Amino acid sequence: TPLLSVRDLSASADDKPILHGVDLDVDPGTCHVLMGPNGAGKSTLGHVIMGDPAYTVTGGSIGFDGEDVTGLPVDKRSLAGIFLSFQAPVEIPGVPLYSFLRTICQKRPELKMTARQFRRRVTELAEQLDMDTAYLTRELGVGFSGGEKKKVEMLQLLLLQPRLAILDETDSGLDVDALGVVSRGIQAYREQCGGSLIVITHNTRILERLDVDETHVMVDGSIVATGDAALIAHIDANGFEEYEVAAAKEA
Ligand code: ADP
Ligand code: MG
Ligand code: MG
Repeated sequence: TPLLSVRDLSASADDKPILHGVDLDVDPGTCHVLMGPNGAGKSTLGHVIMGDPAYTVTGGSIGFDGEDVTGLPVDKRSLAGIFLSFQAPVEIPGVPLYSFLRTICQKRPELKMTARQFRRRVTELAEQLDMDTAYLTRELGVGFSGGEKKKVEMLQLLLLQPRLAILDETDSGLDVDALGVVSRGIQAYREQCGGSLIVITHNTRILERLDVDETHVMVDGSIVATGDAALIAHIDANGFEEYEVAAAKEA
C-alpha cells in the first residue's frame, strides 16, 4: 500500500482554484520528482499535503499511512512523519538553531534522546553536511546565506527522519558546493532513513545521484504526465511546451 495517496485533490487559496483533481501515490522508500512550469501549482501541492492553512481543500482526499489526514493540522501531520522544506526557509529571531532543533526532537516520542546524545547527533550531522557548527548557536535563519539555510534544512531532514520528505526547490540559488551538500543530504536521507521523497525542482543536476522512481509533470494544477527517470532528460531537452499545449487543448 502507498505511504501517501492523494485522490482527486482540488484546492484553492483566497477563493482562487489552484489544484484540479490531483492523483498521486507514493510508495514507501520511493523517490518522486515533480516538475512543471512556474505557477503550475507544485508548491501548492506540497503545502496542501503538509496542511498549510493558507490553502483550502475543495475536493478529494489525502491519505497517509492508511489514514485520511485531509483535515489534520500541520503539527499532527508533522508528527505522523510528513516534512516539507520551504522555498523560503523560516527565520525565528531570538531562537538559536540548536534550541529549535532540540525542541522539535523533544516533541517526537520516537526521537527521544538525552541532551548529550542530541549534542553528539547534531554535531555529527553538521560535520557530515560540511556545516560550520557556529551556526548552531546563531539565531535561526537570521543572516544565513541561501546555502547555509539549505544545510539547515538537510540537518533537520536527517535529524527528524520523516517518512515522507517534500523538498520544494531546495536547490534554487545554490552554488555547486552547496548543491553537492544538498544532493548528499538527500542521498543520506534515503540510505539512513529509508524515507520517501517528493522532490520539486527545476535543477535536474540535483537528481543525477538519486534513484528516481517516478517523474510527474504538473501543468495548470493537474498532473498531466507521469513517467520514470527518463522523463527528466526528456523535459531537460524539450521543456514543458508539449504538456502545456496538451493541457490547453483539454481545457
Ligand atoms: P509553482 O510552485 O508550480 O510555481 P505555486 O503553487 O507557487 O506554483 O502557484 C500556483 C498558482 O497559485 C500561482 O498562480 C500562484 O500565484 C497561486 N498561489 C499560490 N499560493 C497562493 C496563495 N497563498 N494565495 C494566493 N494565490 C496563491
Ligand atoms: Mg513558483
Ligand atoms: Mg513553487
